[in-house]
Amino acid sequence: MSTHAALIHKQTTYFRSRETLPLAFRKQALKRLADAIRAYESDIIQALKQDLNKSEFEAYSSEVGIVLKEIRFMLQHLSKWARPRKVRTPMTHIGSSGKLLYEPYGVALIIAPWNFPFQLAVLPLIGAIAAGNCAIVKPSELTPNTAEVLAWLIGETFLEEYITVVLGGVETSQSLLAEKVDKIFYTGGTEVGKVVMKAAAMHLTPVTLELGGKSPCIVHKDARLKLAAKRIAWGKFMNAGQTCVAPDYVYVHEDVKEEFLTELMQATALLYGADPLADDTYTRVISAKHFDRLQRLMPGGEVVFGGKSDRDSLRMEPTVLVHADMGHSLMQEEIFGPLLPVLTYTDIEQVLQFVNSRPKPLALYLFSESERLQRHVLEHASFGGGCVNDTVYHYTSPYLPFGGVGSSGMGAYHGESSFQCFSHRKSVLKQTTLLDIPFRYPHLKNGLKRI
Ligand code: NAD
Repeated sequence: MSTHAALIHKQTTYFRSRETLPLAFRKQALKRLADAIRAYESDIIQALKQDLNKSEFEAYSSEVGIVLKEIRFMLQHLSKWARPRKVRTPMTHIGSSGKLLYEPYGVALIIAPWNFPFQLAVLPLIGAIAAGNCAIVKPSELTPNTAEVLAWLIGETFLEEYITVVLGGVETSQSLLAEKVDKIFYTGGTEVGKVVMKAAAMHLTPVTLELGGKSPCIVHKDARLKLAAKRIAWGKFMNAGQTCVAPDYVYVHEDVKEEFLTELMQATALLYGADPLADDTYTRVISAKHFDRLQRLMPGGEVVFGGKSDRDSLRMEPTVLVHADMGHSLMQEEIFGPLLPVLTYTDIEQVLQFVNSRPKPLALYLFSESERLQRHVLEHASFGGGCVNDTVYHYTSPYLPFGGVGSSGMGAYHGESSFQCFSHRKSVLKQTTLLDIPFRYPHLKNGLKRI
């Protein structure tokens, strides 16, 4: 038996002991996780600095803080969500009652990416714990310091047969995927998502895929441009654009293009300073390979502002481009870096047609004061989730299920959806023995005569 097979066997045995099932156990585990995160907070923040040069503010607000908030929310609501739910029965089922019971899948495998390496490994884990599963977390190899702190924190807090972190790269991930687990939760790129789904198919394992894509941002002529520019600059350039729900490109109405670009430049300077490369708290690009890929995207448009970079520190200025070549990789690949092409339109149908002719994006953002236009865009474009008059913020509401559609993913999590994502919903009909209505039986008096 391989090491990974042995680990999964060990967790399966533990799961079958039913120890993880009581609500009190799950809540206690969530509290211990929160305590451990608080205890290791400065190590996590330091690791994020080493891996991505994240500032303390970004590390707390977009990694540690989000995770602690989700645990609090889960603890507040878990008892209610986990309760069996009564459902109605039709007239033909008179005397019986229906209910839904939530049960954990068993052993969950969570594979995480590098861009928010702490948050995206721990957020699904919270759902797995809340639902009563055992879990194996495989963090990204590209953020080794954060992965190590996570392994250490989890190792000190939980038994290996309950929750553990397995460190390693693609081979480790593939070796884990080759074994049978009971649930796979994967966050990462679309192409690898297909590899994961193929592996899941071999064992018919339920899978949640949190993938990426090119998320459009539409700025209509009636938008509050100053605010729109600030919210777009924030959502795009945080984490140096390495955010799955960052606006990938902007479509601005031709009439307000110049004003919008001016506002965008001012907003970017306000948020990231006049010289972001001189600011040692500005997040870097994850690796030289990713940096070089972003450099190759740059000639796909004409730089309006930004454009400078430093390969030694792997940092690139927030960069806005116009006149993008639609056939260039800049407009074909998910950018996933601090480059923002700005395109123009005169007719919203042109934008909708463009968006709908492409793989379904993870997010879509619309800035407009018109309720009619908002309704029209929301009804005519398909995307995972998004915002009207903001960017990225939908991600941070635990009341909104988060997930993609089509090539941006399947399934959703956060808040109650996380609990459901790691639970099987068992439908049960409880029949009365006090009466037995004959119509379902063939050949009885008042029974079914023909179908
Ligand atoms: P990635 O797909 O390269 O890697 C993610 C994880 O998969 C890592 O743990 C890696 O070790 C593993 N992996 C890589 N190749 C593999 C293979 N061939 N077989 C099995 N496992 C493999 O993704 P990434 O570069 O870390 O992340 C960037 C992508 O993730 C972007 O497309 C982004 O949009 C997407 N993303 C999505 C979300 C979301 O919530 N939907 C969040 C963050 C990132």
